[in-house]
Amino acid sequence: MLNVTYLHHSGFLVETEKHCMIFDYFTENEKYNFIDIAKYASKKIMVFVSHFHHDHYDRAIFQWQKRLPQIQYILSDDVTPPSYVKNVLKVHFGKSYTVEDVLIQTFHSNDEGVAFLVKADGKNIYHAGDLNWWHWNGESDNFNKGIAGMYRKEIDYMKKTVLDVAFVPVDPRLEENYILGLDYVMKTIEVKNAFPMHFWEDYSIFDRLQQEERTLSYRNRIAQIHHRNETFVLANEEEMA
Ligand SMILES: [Zn+2]
Repeated sequence: MLNVTYLHHSGFLVETEKHCMIFDYFTENEKYNFIDIAKYASKKIMVFVSHFHHDHYDRAIFQWQKRLPQIQYILSDDVTPPSYVKNVLKVHFGKSYTVEDVLIQTFHSNDEGVAFLVKADGKNIYHAGDLNWWHWNGESDNFNKGIAGMYRKEIDYMKKTVLDVAFVPVDPRLEENYILGLDYVMKTIEVKNAFPMHFWEDYSIFDRLQQEERTLSYRNRIAQIHHRNETFVLANEEEMA
């Protein structure tokens, strides 16, 4: 199975056969704290934080361990959890880690922290964190070139990987450049399902992506998110067998 639930901003919950993975959970001061973690107790629960920025790292994630002590945290090394939290794996960019049967690779974010490539139950899942083609119109050409080069270098590491799911920023604050990061991923890597994120609840971004000429070859692989807590069933092998 492969289920993806959009939570809020860059926060997603991914369910595979034996794993429940939560990325960059963000409740915005408890407004969107709607996960019932006990629902996933039969699976190995892994909670990923790409970096410490408030829109990616929310201390609400540590409350879950009071009910489910076996929860595993995978935290970028710029995140310092409270001392009572157990099962913490701190990660640095450019490295590989294994947690039981799950393989985790990290990439160097050109903003803060890491991006994740996670291999679990035969599925490849990429979560960018804040690794993005941040082309700001107000910045110098040199700055924008530097950021672009760093971005392409990291994405190129995945050229030979087939991604079942890719979570990639499409930030409307970048104006017409909002699409650069996603466009590069889709034209460089084989991606089965792309989920735009970091769009500040501006859902008009999804129509815009469908209408862009440059998305023609891949727009049918871009998920259309309509609201928070929306679930996408991407594969259900059990039923097909
Ligand atoms: Zn961010």
